[in-house]
Amino acid sequence: MSAQEQLTKLPLEAKSPFELRVNLGRSVPESDVRTALATGDMGFLHSFTTGSTVDGPGVRVVAWTTGCQFRCLYCHNPDTWTMSNGIPVTLDRATVELRKYRSGLKVMSGGFTLSGGEPLMQDRFAVKLLSAAQAMGIHTALDTNGSLGERLTDAELERIDLVLLDIKSWDPERHRQLTGMEVGPVLDFARRLAASKRPMWVRFVLVPGWTNQPENVAQIAKFTASLGNVERVDVLPFHQLGRFKWKELRLDYRLADVQPPALEVVEQACAQFRAEGLKAY
Ligand code: SF4
Repeated sequence: MSAQEQLTKLPLEAKSPFELRVNLGRSVPESDVRTALATGDMGFLHSFTTGSTVDGPGVRVVAWTTGCQFRCLYCHNPDTWTMSNGIPVTLDRATVELRKYRSGLKVMSGGFTLSGGEPLMQDRFAVKLLSAAQAMGIHTALDTNGSLGERLTDAELERIDLVLLDIKSWDPERHRQLTGMEVGPVLDFARRLAASKRPMWVRFVLVPGWTNQPENVAQIAKFTASLGNVERVDVLPFHQLGRFKWKELRLDYRLADVQPPALEVVEQACAQFRAEGLKAY
């Protein structure tokens, strides 16, 4: 069996995205990768997971893409940074996989979430897979860092029933230190979604010493409330579950000594969002 054929046999489903997966797409020729990115007929996925209740409304099937241009210091899935770590999956295979869950997802008022990594690194594949899901009557959500939002046309945004937008920090310098990238395009995408009244949830990771400053939370809360299209805010406490991946990948993990925030600190951040009239959990 050729290396390519073996890849088509690899199981897509993982128990959780915390499974470490590396180099699964390394044998795909560069020209095939370029064609895949241009056409969206093939994508690179870390895995599919089922039964999520935290990645959108109801119970969700989540496809985790590989490839991300951010380098968040707290990232719990750094194996998704590199596209070639993912399994090459044709659009047909991903669609067949999704179809298996169609009836169950409807019963559980759930849907399909495309997450990563950063799914818009593979924007053509993302659009085609989300469109296929929507055409099956499955609720669709995109979990994104937002900075590549300009890759989607307004018509393509209609294929996404809900955008889960991560806002990582308000302060531009702190955002750069935390992610290696600019916050401006993220906020621009949020404004665009608001202008076109697309449903949106905001996700905010509370990292002690990095994002928990009351002023930072207050500014994000104020901005989020001003948009008018945000249905809910998820305040996600920093955790250490991905620490082993940084070690395995020989990456410099700078947050090794950071403790998860105390419950009252998380509650305080939620209260700041609620004070702006938002639903926060
Ligand atoms: S945007 Fe997400 S996947 Fe990318 S580095 Fe940050 S936390 Fe990790």
